[in-house]
Amino acid sequence: MSILSVKQVSKTYQSGSRKLTVLDEVNFDIQAGDTIAIVGPSGSGKTTLLGLCAGLDSASTGSVSLNGQSMENLSEDQRADIRSKFVGFIFQNFQLLPTLTALENVMVPLELKKRKDAKQKALELLTKVGLGNRATHYPTQLSGGEQQRVSIARAFANEPKILFADEPTGNLDTETGEMIEKLIFDLNKEQGTTLVLVTHDLELAKKTNRIIHIKGGKIQEDTYA
Ligand code: ADP
Repeated sequence: MSILSVKQVSKTYQSGSRKLTVLDEVNFDIQAGDTIAIVGPSGSGKTTLLGLCAGLDSASTGSVSLNGQSMENLSEDQRADIRSKFVGFIFQNFQLLPTLTALENVMVPLELKKRKDAKQKALELLTKVGLGNRATHYPTQLSGGEQQRVSIARAFANEPKILFADEPTGNLDTETGEMIEKLIFDLNKEQGTTLVLVTHDLELAKKTNRIIHIKGGKIQEDTYA
């Protein structure tokens, strides 16, 4: 069974009287344990596609199934419930909650799951990403690379079967980018987590086992390593 199945997916946005087609009948299937890079020019629909795959948004037409569960006709609450069960998402701009410390940000998904060991587990995850000594810092007191690592720890807290990451190494220096890359690929190696990465970094894309090239909302190329 595919862990992610995208069938005839289109997405249109209404811009005044104009309809903008951002994704146009996109089809692909991803098997559990795979590592995939979605590449393509800016504005080609990569972020929109990632959001639809992760259940953050819904398609205009077509269907997305995650772990065999169709994401169509679901309320936001129902999609959030599916996401909390097995999806991790790393956002381009981190999306940490500014009023919470690093530790509290990582605790959010654990508390949603009513884990009694939320604090201890969150601290373990922060330590794993090298930030055990930044637990009480607020996002504004952290560098970009540190914020990205907190967001990775938060995504890992969900123990995701599938991890989506939007430009995970974008805007970071080479050393921090390499560290983040290792954390993400180690999750795949150690726990078999499926990775779906949007990236403009071709070196990062080459480390995955499949590259989906998207242009103008359509798949141009779908190649396996
Ligand atoms: P990429 O990630 O490849 O740069 P995006 O998926 O972010 O592309 O955007 C694709 C196109 O959709 C862009 O032209 C963008 O302006 C447009 N777009 C994205 N989100 C919205 C939205 N919420 N409303 C209207 N247009 C949008």
